[in-house]
Amino acid sequence: MNKKEKPDGSVAEPIILKAPGHPITRAQIDPDALKIIDRLDRQGFMACLVGGAVRDLMLGKAPKDFDIATDARPGQIKKRFPNAYVIGRRFRLVHVHFPGGKIIEVATFRKDPRNIPAPPEGELADAPVDIYGTPREDAFRRDLTINALLYDAVLDSVIDYVGGLEDLACRRIRVIGDPVERFVEDPVRIWRVLRHAARLGFEIETCAAAAVRSQAHLLGTASGARLYEEFNKDLAYETRPVIEALRCHGLLRYILGRAGEAYEADAGLFRRLIGFLEIEDHIRSTGVVLSLEEMYALIFWPWLEELLLTEVPIELHKALHDEFQALQTGATIPKTIRANVVQIIYLTGMMLRAFRSGRMRWSLRQRTHWPQAERLIFLIREGRPPQLGETFETLFQRRFPGGAKPEKRRWRPSRNRRPKRPAGGNPSPA
Ligand code: ATP
Ligand code: MG
Repeated sequence: MNKKEKPDGSVAEPIILKAPGHPITRAQIDPDALKIIDRLDRQGFMACLVGGAVRDLMLGKAPKDFDIATDARPGQIKKRFPNAYVIGRRFRLVHVHFPGGKIIEVATFRKDPRNIPAPPEGELADAPVDIYGTPREDAFRRDLTINALLYDAVLDSVIDYVGGLEDLACRRIRVIGDPVERFVEDPVRIWRVLRHAARLGFEIETCAAAAVRSQAHLLGTASGARLYEEFNKDLAYETRPVIEALRCHGLLRYILGRAGEAYEADAGLFRRLIGFLEIEDHIRSTGVVLSLEEMYALIFWPWLEELLLTEVPIELHKALHDEFQALQTGATIPKTIRANVVQIIYLTGMMLRAFRSGRMRWSLRQRTHWPQAERLIFLIREGRPPQLGETFETLFQRRFPGGAKPEKRRWRPSRNRRPKRPAGGNPSPA
């Protein structure tokens, strides 16, 4: 029985917090999100802020994005916003585009997927109407109680169907419904429990904590695409605490493959990673944002460091490529991202080697990924991003004030090199 269902099976009324009983003000909400809500309201629809935005506003934090849920159907939403695009097949959502690349997601309230009959074969494109539900059903299909609050900006009220307000007040992570069932249904929720507990410093409710431990292995069955999508969320914000929680529960291996196993087995290696992530979380809070590829390069860096610094002569680029081939990450990192990450690590590795040998192949500065590698080498060696005007050369000259050793000439067979004439003059035509 869910705590919001009465013993006789009837549904308890939601808790409604009217202003000034909650801390949310319209001024804290993205004006474009308010425009969408107000326009839908004027057209007779109900539209609320939902998910992480309401949770963060209740906690006095700035939300990362503003998601909206409404009783308008995707087609009805699209009709009212010229800049709206319907995406998805079975669950159609609307993305409303604004200048500067901003996108606000507007979703129709929907039922728990367990209560939706499977569509007949071949009818995926036109979703049957009964996937949609009431605000209450929409709240119950969500993962955590603190992620299922609604904020009605028109009535200036917070609506709670699932006990999320109480859990926020007690600083507690509670799964909606039976945790084991919800994890079996979607193992990524295990990760989400750990993420939100780690980011907010909340305690995980006993039942959920036991289910996280007993069902952790299920994460290995999640699709590579889902794991990649979720991992990118952790690379975008507050990375360190979540990575620590994932390691604590032995989950890194399901996401990062052999690198994850190494981070779980080797405390020293993991400390090195955490050191970098701490620096990264700090510099992000000062407004310096690394690209996704730079973040992946940082994640794999400690694992590859030994290879990068080996004294054994190797063809570094090929060696890195082979390591990535054998990595077997659970998260499916797209080929182009992986190739770029290898390039960034390769160049950073060459810089690192140059600090040891005093020699550098300066022609590498022409490579596309040089600026990204430069940012990374500053993070790794200096614990900070480069300041205006600082380059790798700045670091190199500081290390070798007397000047660098001459560049070693690399022998390459040249295509233009003329074949040696055989003794005795030109070969005669046949
Ligand atoms: P963040 O601040 O990291 O964006 P968030 O809670 O907004 O946190 P999102 O991944 O943006 O997380 O998801 C938006 C909302 O969708 C969540 O708040 C939650 O209500 C719901 N949700 C996301 N993933 C799941 C899931 N696997 N199962 C059920 N509900 C989910
Ligand atoms: Mg979100």
